[in-house]
Amino acid sequence: MRASGFPIAMNIHFSKVFTLAALVAATLPLCAQQAPAAGAAPKHEDTEIYEPVPPVVTPGATDAAPPSDAIVLFNGKNLDEWVSNRDKSPAKWTVADGVLTVNKTGGNIETKRTFKNYQLHVEWKIPENITGTDQARGNSGVFLASTGGGDAGYELQVLDSYNNKTYVNGQAGSIYKQAIPLANPNRKPGEWQTYDVIWTAPVFNADGSVKTPAYATVIFNGVLVQNHFELKGETLYVGQPFYKKYDRAPIKLQAHGDRSEPISFRNIWVRELN
Ligand code: MG
Repeated sequence: MRASGFPIAMNIHFSKVFTLAALVAATLPLCAQQAPAAGAAPKHEDTEIYEPVPPVVTPGATDAAPPSDAIVLFNGKNLDEWVSNRDKSPAKWTVADGVLTVNKTGGNIETKRTFKNYQLHVEWKIPENITGTDQARGNSGVFLASTGGGDAGYELQVLDSYNNKTYVNGQAGSIYKQAIPLANPNRKPGEWQTYDVIWTAPVFNADGSVKTPAYATVIFNGVLVQNHFELKGETLYVGQPFYKKYDRAPIKLQAHGDRSEPISFRNIWVRELN
């Protein structure tokens, strides 16, 4: 009788299993050590980077105030940074009490400067006594890039969407007719509202084809409403969007021309990004 009390075949089987287990056990520590075996054991310093050092930017007194590296596009005093979109003559909107108000007969206005990628802060207000409905209720817009006359370009819609039904890809916070806002954080007419925008301009090949599309991230009254949205082209009132080659472009504010009371803007600044 064998000491184990098991048949020979079973003893052989156990023997193989134990041999395999022993091999695995012996190999495991080797496997675990294989990655660092090429060099020294990893150290915390290996993943710590010291250059380039980010530039110091002094923030504003509040998060709405322009930081030290911002270009102030409207400081409440004048329209020195703006021209008429129609003919590049001095902008004809109204400046009073630190506020810029749409002059419908003055047409759209745009910045004298042109931009590629940037961070933009702009505040806007629908008049408390606003009238009208749908798209004819406080309609304006921030064109993140103005590529021509009229409404040519890429419009971030401005509208009274506090309690005003319209197509959802045309309400405040939409990329007009392309992207429905992720939420509706509108304040009541008469209250100031904010847009903070990260704009990544489209890049074109020499033949006019799109190398990389435009992207927009929009925070509306502190709420994310567009999250790195990839635009399909310029925002159009009629038809499907498409891209047209451009290099640098002004930022444009819309005088929509409907019968609503005009809306106002204040505290507009931009930080160029490269
Ligand atoms: Mg509009």
